[in-house]
Amino acid sequence: MLVPKRTVDLRRLNHTVLLRHLYLHGPMSRLELSQQTDLSPSTVTNVVTALIQDGVLLETGATKSRGGRPRAILDINAHYGYLIGVDLDETHVQLVLFDLSRRKLKATYDAISPGVKTPEPHIAVVARRVNELIADLPRDKVLGIGVGVPGIVEPHPLLVGGASTWEWRAGSLAERIAHAIDLPVFVENGAKAMALAEAWYGVGRGAQDIIVVLLGTSVGAGVVTQGRLFRGTTNSAGEWGHTKVSLDGRICRCGGNGCLDSYLGVPGILTSWREHASNGLTSADGDQVAALERLITAYRKGDAAAKAAVRDTVRVLSAGIANLVNLFNPERVIIGGWAGLQIGEVILEDVIEGVKAQALPATQASLLIGLSQFRQDAICTGAACLVLDEFLSLSQEFSTTE
Ligand SMILES: [Zn+2]
Repeated sequence: MLVPKRTVDLRRLNHTVLLRHLYLHGPMSRLELSQQTDLSPSTVTNVVTALIQDGVLLETGATKSRGGRPRAILDINAHYGYLIGVDLDETHVQLVLFDLSRRKLKATYDAISPGVKTPEPHIAVVARRVNELIADLPRDKVLGIGVGVPGIVEPHPLLVGGASTWEWRAGSLAERIAHAIDLPVFVENGAKAMALAEAWYGVGRGAQDIIVVLLGTSVGAGVVTQGRLFRGTTNSAGEWGHTKVSLDGRICRCGGNGCLDSYLGVPGILTSWREHASNGLTSADGDQVAALERLITAYRKGDAAAKAAVRDTVRVLSAGIANLVNLFNPERVIIGGWAGLQIGEVILEDVIEGVKAQALPATQASLLIGLSQFRQDAICTGAACLVLDEFLSLSQEFSTTE
């Protein structure tokens, strides 16, 4: 029937609007919630009462109002539930356990042997580490596991994660992890997950249009327009790494020519270093993290080949970001990813200058370019936001009020 259905939907919507607002902008009083969400004071009172009864919200104190009674301050109950964010990459598996207020409680990091082409080692590490992280917690308090991965993640029900170098397309990564640990699992591209975290809590907070550029073994971008993640028709929007910067350029791992990924992914940066070396350079080989560190050290010492490789990287990154700026007109561009953070401080000023020279003037009026503040926890934080997003969207499920 139409009328009851509309009533139920409205209540669900009110729960979602109120909890999401309090989560992102709180703590605050009932009156402030009403004023800022345009929900009536009586609706706010009803919804808040239900959420306090369920233990999702707490009254944490009181504020003095002018000439009136003190008003109770509402906040999220940090211990209502726990979230795990996983950064699952070709080189490593990192996990962070957060409480519901996003306070970091515990973390783990495991390096993965180079050349691993199947997901089993990654899944085994995730399962073992999740069980360690939540050993002291009631299992039903764990709201879910968010996993940020490189590459395209196809929409539900075919959640398939995988970088181009992985041969993971046959199975569902989310289902396999969920099977191993028996908890809800949400998988998303790492750059998209990180864009969500930056928009909600990071450098992008307060901005409606932001782009996160992620540099690592591969490269990608997460685009937030009008405060929402831009996914495209099949959730593959943001595959910025495979935009072309040179039609006859390097062969990319996607099979195309001249993709950004083949110049800005760490293997590509190291290839540039080798190409500029006049006689048999070997320090670009081996572990990627260590090799990139050696490149930065050589650059700082004035090594000619290292300087040329960094200059190439700045030129290509500036062009790639300028293209994004021309296409999406963002307020902020945030550079992150393990390699982005490693090399970011060395190249940031030159990249800002490069983008300024190449993006159309009209797109630059309020543009800021900076580095992610989440540092090495960025993707784990973003991945935990996937669980939070689900929790905040489904908050009515936790209410006992009918
Ligand atoms: Zn490509």
